[in-house]
Amino acid sequence: MKRLEPEDERWIDDARRAAHVRGPPPTIADCKAEGCIGFHVCCNGTLPSGRRCGNWKVILWEDVNLPPELPFPQIAHSIRARCTKCGCQRFHIVPDATHQKRPGPL
Ligand SMILES: [Zn+2]
Repeated sequence: MKRLEPEDERWIDDARRAAHVRGPPPTIADCKAEGCIGFHVCCNGTLPSGRRCGNWKVILWEDVNLPPELPFPQIAHSIRARCTKCGCQRFHIVPDATHQKRPGPL
């Protein structure tokens, strides 16, 4: 049996995760309802040194004009972004869980 490279395992992990997703993915409206005020765009690029870039940026919902019914995973296909560090256009997105709006006025 072929030995799995770390890269292969990552693919298998992703496939496994996708297979375990139950029901439709959350939409932007769902994320907003949970208190998320935006999402992180994380660069998948590689720096000339061979290291992973890992540059990231928080984008607020109000910065982008996306329909609330858009499934969250579709955001990556719906926005155009280019990494300011490595110029890569491949990125993944994660809901913002650290800048959640606090109830009441700040
Ligand atoms: Zn980058």
